[in-house]
Amino acid sequence: MYDFAIIGGGIVGLSTAMALGDRYPDARILVLEKENQWAFHQTGNNSGVIHSGIYYQPGSFKAKFCRDGSRSMVEFCQKHTIDYEVCSKLIVATQVKELPRLENLYKRGLENGIPVSRLSPEAVKEIEPYVKSVGAVQVLSTGIVNYKQVCLKYAQLIAKQGGELHLNTKVLQIRQYDQHHVLETNQGSFAARFMVNCTGLHSDRLAKLSKLQPQAQIIPFRGEYYELIPSKRYLVKNLIYPVPNPDFPFLGVHFTRMIDQSVHAGPNAVLSLKREGYKKTDFDLRDFLEIITYLGFWKLAVKHADEGIQEIIRSYSKAAFVQSLQKLIPEVQAEDLVPTHAGVRAQALRNNGSLVEDFLIIPGKNASHVCNAPSPAATSSLEIGKAIVAQIPQQSHLSQVVKIRNY
Ligand SMILES: Cc1cc2nc3c(=O)[nH]c(=O)nc-3n(C[C@H](O)[C@H](O)[C@H](O)COP(=O)(O)OP(=O)(O)OC[C@H]3O[C@@H](n4cnc5c(N)ncnc54)[C@H](O)[C@@H]3O)c2cc1C
Repeated sequence: MYDFAIIGGGIVGLSTAMALGDRYPDARILVLEKENQWAFHQTGNNSGVIHSGIYYQPGSFKAKFCRDGSRSMVEFCQKHTIDYEVCSKLIVATQVKELPRLENLYKRGLENGIPVSRLSPEAVKEIEPYVKSVGAVQVLSTGIVNYKQVCLKYAQLIAKQGGELHLNTKVLQIRQYDQHHVLETNQGSFAARFMVNCTGLHSDRLAKLSKLQPQAQIIPFRGEYYELIPSKRYLVKNLIYPVPNPDFPFLGVHFTRMIDQSVHAGPNAVLSLKREGYKKTDFDLRDFLEIITYLGFWKLAVKHADEGIQEIIRSYSKAAFVQSLQKLIPEVQAEDLVPTHAGVRAQALRNNGSLVEDFLIIPGKNASHVCNAPSPAATSSLEIGKAIVAQIPQQSHLSQVVKIRNY
């Protein structure tokens, strides 16, 4: 019998397992991941940005976990000699009409305790010579890292603490008993006193398997990227973002210098017809039917029809994608860009068509379900892990079974 089973070996599952091992040093901990490597889905296909927390509603979990998480991520990388850089980023207004929204972001940054400053177009040129702007906000605490490398370190530390990590192990059924769960997988059954569901794109399904109604469904949004050819990397020094549409959860296509020094442009945000669909042609009948029979999806589609159509055009037309990027850097040309990877975001959507904006962790019977952990969950992973662990002693019989480390 395990004390804790964590389902999902992305950054949230692994950070949770690490935090559990820290809090309950004698506990038997198990991590189950269906793929043959860690961080295979969202975590391994993201932009690699250590976000600052500027965008999020003050007082929200996102604002707090991201601000604190960006610090703890940097400390973690320093401690474990993982390559990272706190390189700062610019949020750039390219038209005068965007300036009030830029100002709001600046104020929100101050409210969230983020080191932000306003820049004139001339000051922008000194930092990013190829950017055309009418003003910008600089965020000093933004950084870059490879989250896959972070996950490999998390996995190493879990194993060192005595945790058991199983790849190629897909949870197919969950049987609930009074004091434990039995997780049936393609590699046999595992019994655990407490279970944490960190399955990202499948989190709503796993919640339902354990008889929890998450009140929201995961809708997959693919983010496609281009990459600047090496001879054009000089156009981008660090990170260059547009002023985002405040009604939309995505940040708009942007330029990101990655930690390996390549420069990525994107991601867009198109509905994916398969939860793990990385190609435009990917399709899964069950996933598709679940989307189109969900009332919340149609309510969202009606509300954001214009943006949705723009995203589809930008997905199929490189010229449209390049046009969006040229608003930030007019010199960038279609031949400077080649397609590169894509990622699929797991975004929870309520039946009334509203997106779940904040992180959502729902307590179940001897269980926690992470039902919404989109960006900036990679940045915030260490804080999310700690928060999940903090929920446990009040709701579980576990505190009588395993020794808790007191801080
Ligand atoms: C395009 C894109 C760009 C992003 N950019 C950033 C960024 O720059 N900075 C940032 O902070 N965040 C970013 N994010 C968000 C961030 O990557 C995610 O919030 C984070 O990775 C979520 O981690 P996770 O562990 O919840 O999910 P995942 O990484 O998706 O992990 C879930 C795991 O569960 C496994 N699983 C699912 N079902 C089962 C099952 N039945 N049995 C066993 N295992 C199962 C899956 O195989 C998967 O490995 C981005 C996301 C995307 C998609």
